[in-house]
Amino acid sequence: RSSAGRAVAERIRVCVRKRPLSQAEEKRGEADVVRVRDGESVLVQEQKEAVDLTQYLLQHEFYFDEVFSEACSNEDVYKKTAYPLIQHIFNGGKATCFAYGQTGAGKTHTMLGSSPRRPGLYALAARDIFARLAQAEPRPGPGALRVCVSFFEIYCGQLYDLLDHRKRLFAREDGQRVVQIAGLREVEVESVASLLEVISWGGRERSRGASGVNCDSSRSHALLQIHLRARPQRLVGRISFVDLAGSERACDTRDPDRQSRMEGAEINQSLLALKECIRALDQELSHTPFRQSKLTQVLKDSFIGNSKTCMIANISPSHLATEHTLNTLRYADRVKEL
Ligand code: ADP
Ligand code: MG
Repeated sequence: RSSAGRAVAERIRVCVRKRPLSQAEEKRGEADVVRVRDGESVLVQEQKEAVDLTQYLLQHEFYFDEVFSEACSNEDVYKKTAYPLIQHIFNGGKATCFAYGQTGAGKTHTMLGSSPRRPGLYALAARDIFARLAQAEPRPGPGALRVCVSFFEIYCGQLYDLLDHRKRLFAREDGQRVVQIAGLREVEVESVASLLEVISWGGRERSRGASGVNCDSSRSHALLQIHLRARPQRLVGRISFVDLAGSERACDTRDPDRQSRMEGAEINQSLLALKECIRALDQELSHTPFRQSKLTQVLKDSFIGNSKTCMIANISPSHLATEHTLNTLRYADRVKEL
């Protein structure tokens, strides 16, 4: 990479995480077709059939800033993805960490974790934020920073507050062209445990769905924001964690069901806009297409100024997922391509 490329690489990191085959997948005889090499490349073997019906293998290799194999824990992933972003928000910056990938590829495992004993990035980030605050201010005083969280969902281009009974919210730009979400609830938290409690009630709202029908979490983006605030309300830094809608949903645009088709089109649009906005951060383009989706609109300040972004593209190892895995890797590849 050129020196400009290296400077950029510090603002944008694109990583891939492969999950292990599950026991059920192993039992069904699914094959692991993904090899991770020395932390920076990933190799996918695609089984193809020739016209004469003989089988052959097609190899696809991709390079990223970091590649995590199935042997990596959430802590390993955290250290190389969100941890540097936490340093950045204490210096007054904005940071965003995305989990991208097909449903079932490990986005929520990465963000939330699969059990309290094995926490995900939300909790690991909170741990370090509180540790750092305790170091700086052993006794909370008037100058101390406060930690506030908000948690909302974007479903079909509409915002729902997961910390306020799925209240419908609206985003607008204020006089300074800062995007504000009017009425978004922010809850102040004093410890990792209380942050996790807030996330867990938000998570329950998430699975409840907007209308009860067709609203599993794979169809919406979940945004958890941790704000560092000085008194009374001044924002010092912020990190946003985005558990994106299942990327395979973006292909649902020909689904016979009208609602699914609409959802698919919306997700497709938002993931395309996201890619363009992150790329624009790289290239310091004069025009960043935030307005092309609700997702990128509400994350506007993540794509301008003093901000850093990390994307974790999650992939399944199974041969049955090869097509979606390749789609995910190609998307991630485009995000970092200069
Ligand atoms: P997604 O949120 O992308 O739909 P999940 O995070 O829910 O996917 O993961 C699907 C399943 O795989 C879950 O049962 C989860 O516990 C498991 N899983 C995902 N990633 C890992 C991993 N790195 N190690 C072990 N199990 C994982
Ligand atoms: Mg999930």
